[in-house]
Amino acid sequence: MRRLNVGFGALSWLVVAGLVWTMKVAGQEVTSTLLPIALGFGVDTTTGPRHEIFGLWRAYLSDRPDSARANRYWSNAEQRRWPRYDLTGGYIYQGSDWAADTRITLVELAPAVPGDSDVYVIRTLYVRAPDSVGAAIQPRALQRVYAVRERGRWVLAGALPRLTASWPRAIIGPITFIYSPSHRFDRRKAERSARFVDSLSRAIGVTVPRRLTFVVAPSPDELARITGLDFCLSPLGRAYPDDALVMSGLPSYGEWYPHELAHVIFRSLEGKLPGPPFFVEGAATWVGGSRGRDYPTLVRELRAVLRERPTLTLDSIVAPHEWTDSISYTSAAVLFDMAHEHGGQRAIRQLLGATDASVTGVFATLEQAIGLPRPELNVAWRHRVMTAGE
Ligand SMILES: [Zn+2]
Repeated sequence: MRRLNVGFGALSWLVVAGLVWTMKVAGQEVTSTLLPIALGFGVDTTTGPRHEIFGLWRAYLSDRPDSARANRYWSNAEQRRWPRYDLTGGYIYQGSDWAADTRITLVELAPAVPGDSDVYVIRTLYVRAPDSVGAAIQPRALQRVYAVRERGRWVLAGALPRLTASWPRAIIGPITFIYSPSHRFDRRKAERSARFVDSLSRAIGVTVPRRLTFVVAPSPDELARITGLDFCLSPLGRAYPDDALVMSGLPSYGEWYPHELAHVIFRSLEGKLPGPPFFVEGAATWVGGSRGRDYPTLVRELRAVLRERPTLTLDSIVAPHEWTDSISYTSAAVLFDMAHEHGGQRAIRQLLGATDASVTGVFATLEQAIGLPRPELNVAWRHRVMTAGE
């Protein structure tokens, strides 16, 4: 059997996969079944801080990192500032069985600045396990997190505060903009975003989030990098509503990114966990557009689709197998428009407060918020798409 060095000497995959391991974190005993982590070439985890940091990292990865709950592995200071502290999580740990088809390799564990032993960088490669011999290797992400000292112990910390520490800042209305030194700050766009946040918050009756932060990166790759993803499918932009954090990675968007800002503002109308994606995306698209297009433009595009496909109904759009961004986001946005017309703020709260993401659940919520039974809803929705703005 191929043997891999996993830090406590040479152990096989099988042995490591089932290893139940106990360590002390912040004075408390933590027991977990460890995920197998292979070590990249030349990575030393055997002595001193490296040994301790590797143990901490492995314990974190083995203890449901997808759940993003407060935990003892991560810096307290960062958790206070960002409830969703691991910004890379949504790209790597999806669901409780995220590791089942993933091979994890630690490719670097070293001082972040050579010779300085206060901050370490931990780089980890996640690869989707090939289905069959000869199948292509599918790298999922090359992730960067840090280990820092906090109250006398090592804790994990994110890339964003470190990689943007020297970036310029500007406070415009309720938003703190942090932008790349290579980016020319566009005050007009920033002011437009600030006005959007104020007026949307007023319109739906919520307070503007405290410490609303907007990071402007010069490219999708750079946006991924400062998030802690040295390699990943690079997003054009991203909102972390629980953190009141919006990130933009497309120069043409820059400081004006209403869709992602809307996610942050609407978050307070949702429950502890975000509601059904159909409603969450519908709300943001209704007030903030999507993919650089505003709501009226998107409705015109949807109208063209409905003309081409007369049999397309709301039922098939809500059904999971028909979930596509271009159609479903706008379809849901139109329903928000109808709900707002019917029941104002109360109806918007009903949609965003929904918790049942099943097809039946989504329709039950829509019937309540718009005041129409399902068959009539379908007809009214199509009519609205075909006539909006005319
Ligand atoms: Zn969205």
